[in-house]
Amino acid sequence: MSKDLPKNSQTISARTAKPNHHQEAPRPEVMPIYQTSVFTFDDVDDVEEYYANHPEGRYLYTRNGNPNIDALTETLAKLEDTEVAYASASGMGAISAAIMGVCHAGDHIVMSNEIYGGTLVLLRTVLNQFGITFSFADFQDHDAIERAMLPTTKLLIAESISNPLLRVIDLEAIAAIAHNHHAYLLIDNTFATPLIVQPAHHGADIVVHSATKYFGGHSDVSGGVICTSTSLGEAMSHIITTLGATLAPFDAWLIARGVKTLSLRFREQCKNAAQIASFLTEQSAVSHVFYPGLSTHESHTKAKKQFQDDLYGAMVSFRLHGGKEAVNRFMQAATTIPFAPSLAGVYTTLSYPYTTSHRGFTEQERLDLGITEGLLRLSVGIEHASDLLAEIGEALSVMK
Ligand SMILES: *Cc1c(COP(=O)(O)O)cnc(C)c1O
Repeated sequence: MSKDLPKNSQTISARTAKPNHHQEAPRPEVMPIYQTSVFTFDDVDDVEEYYANHPEGRYLYTRNGNPNIDALTETLAKLEDTEVAYASASGMGAISAAIMGVCHAGDHIVMSNEIYGGTLVLLRTVLNQFGITFSFADFQDHDAIERAMLPTTKLLIAESISNPLLRVIDLEAIAAIAHNHHAYLLIDNTFATPLIVQPAHHGADIVVHSATKYFGGHSDVSGGVICTSTSLGEAMSHIITTLGATLAPFDAWLIARGVKTLSLRFREQCKNAAQIASFLTEQSAVSHVFYPGLSTHESHTKAKKQFQDDLYGAMVSFRLHGGKEAVNRFMQAATTIPFAPSLAGVYTTLSYPYTTSHRGFTEQERLDLGITEGLLRLSVGIEHASDLLAEIGEALSVMK
């Protein structure tokens, strides 16, 4: 700092402009953003009291906890109907902390072969360095899961609706397999949201979300969530804090704002998706449509039984005749639907699993899963269904 600065410099006046905790607090309708990295204490006794009793409404340091994060996680625990929820800076932060909270060196994981690419990369390139091993199983085949179980298996990982072919798993049967082997079941519920299914009601021990998707809902924030029991959650929360994977206050505020309209958005998105799926089945350029709400989808019966409110999600995948070249022509023709390798925003987007979400898989793994060069995935938004059908119909006719 320069010696020439006058005593009453800007720096000093800025420092002394601290909040006055003694005046009557303002009463905003909406929770403000606590955009602060640290919180203050009156004296040494006050900080001791904080450490000893964790008084309600007191915080120390945002990496350890912040009112915006707590407001969000309280809502999310209610949505998934679990004892606790924890937030992190992304879905991958939540998945990493959830796995590391349960598995230690020497433990084994049985994972669905239809899994988010990032989760696979985490196990294959990071957690393998710390002595955590895994094997794949087809989670449609319960005998295959049984065969994959080892005495050291501590965790089963799957998604309630798989990406991109939208297969549905029998949560209760798989939870029973896990528990018979004294293992836990972790379900990534990102695609389904708790509006479709609450995996904890079907035996899942840990539920994770990429809040970047439907919870945020506007493609403008990254975040992740773990919903679980107090006993399992404590280690996970400690890992989020210690690894520094904490959600930022503004991001927590944005996600909390998104969650207020989750039900309105998601129901509309599901309704649009169902219409688009049945429309696509009638198009000659399309060789196959994947949507669990269609009676032709292999998981339809399971979905109908397990899912709430006749909702089947807002993702629709379809295969075009003609492979990658046809995909390019469709994308160029569908000028109003952006190609964006993510999902769940209010506007419809297109993605291409073969070279984006499933880039980390080998060619053989992709083919075994049915992820071919002609496969496209739509994340359906809240636009008017008639506009969407017209746009997609037009693009399919132009590309011919
Ligand atoms: C996007 C996604 C993730 C990862 O979430 P990030 O917020 O991108 O870290 C995990 N699982 C599923 C199913 C996803 O779609």
